[in-house]
Amino acid sequence: MPEQLPVRDTRHRPLRDLRISVTDRCNFRCRYCMPAEIFGPDFAFLPQHKLLSFEEIARLTNLFTQLGVRKVRITGGEPLMRKDLPVLIRMLRNIEGVQDIAMTTNGSLLVRHAPALREAGLDRVTVSLDSLDNERFGMMNGRGYPVEGVLAGIRAAAEAGLQVKINMVVQRGVNDQDILPMARYFREQGHTLRFIEFMDVGNSNGWKLDQVVPASEIIQMIHREMPLVPVEANYFGEVASRYRYEGSEQEIGLISSVTQAFCSTCTRARLSAEGKMYNCLFASAGEDLREPLRSGRSDDEIRELIRAIWEKRDERYSEERLDHTQGLRKRPKVEMSHIGG
Ligand code: SAM
Ligand code: SF4
Ligand code: SF4
Repeated sequence: MPEQLPVRDTRHRPLRDLRISVTDRCNFRCRYCMPAEIFGPDFAFLPQHKLLSFEEIARLTNLFTQLGVRKVRITGGEPLMRKDLPVLIRMLRNIEGVQDIAMTTNGSLLVRHAPALREAGLDRVTVSLDSLDNERFGMMNGRGYPVEGVLAGIRAAAEAGLQVKINMVVQRGVNDQDILPMARYFREQGHTLRFIEFMDVGNSNGWKLDQVVPASEIIQMIHREMPLVPVEANYFGEVASRYRYEGSEQEIGLISSVTQAFCSTCTRARLSAEGKMYNCLFASAGEDLREPLRSGRSDDEIRELIRAIWEKRDERYSEERLDHTQGLRKRPKVEMSHIGG
């Protein structure tokens, strides 16, 4: 296959990253993502036969790399709820164009799986943790799951040789008092902590603008105690704005998708667990790739289908939200646990 230029969308954004959701299930019920009252015991998750198989995911990923994808992130739901995940990682590792494989996880199952994931070729993990306070964390994850379980997962990942970053979703009035304790702790541990503004993903998390703590406020809060210096972006499409602690190389990141949208450099496509391609985290609908896969279409045909989906992409939801926050929130959106973060 000759080297092709990355396909570009209507706003000239190349296709560079692919986020693959491997399951819509999760062992947590974070209030901002899968509130327990909606994702209860009777909730209809996808049956096994509707999930893409590992072979189907690998085949699609290979086609995505032919259109420009270089970085792949495995997500969910909780990706480690999917059985035999290292088998998929190894298949992705063997795809020539894939330069980087990362995973976003709640960390609860990492102690068991980190060595096999590393051995299969996973490069990096991002572990989500919203508080070091057991009571608050247990309330936020909706399952009373203890902080120590996640910290043990983080240690296991680092010991296995995985690069580790931490994601903290900040919600005013819920866990904003945890910003400084988290910054101090992960500075000490030597892991990059990334603060994520609470987003209006899906339709069920009761999002309100006044619950968003702007990234600028978070920086100021930390800077007052531990002076920060801005760091230049590493590459086009980098999501987090980065700072380092003065006098050290230790960094923090801020994902300010609400107050400073970064749609103009967004190079990410998403593949849901049932094989739909989404051009934006806030999309209402995806384009089905599973049926073409299962009805015997050739690689060339499916690659051209993906190309056409990206070429007509014009989404810039977060920038539009900045323009007029009220109206857009009423549009139905796919749930984050379905599409992957
Ligand atoms: N279960 C895994 C986890 O929690 O890391 C992976 C999937 S989760 C949907 C991916 C990321 O999205 C997590 O870091 C999570 O904290 C973040 N997230 C979920 N809902 C969010 C929201 N409403 N606003 C901001 N981030 C959110
Ligand atoms: Fe599960 Fe992750 Fe969503 Fe929490 S954020 S409910 S861990 S998918
Ligand atoms: Fe990308 Fe959509 Fe997020 Fe904008 S809102 S950065 S287009 S995923």
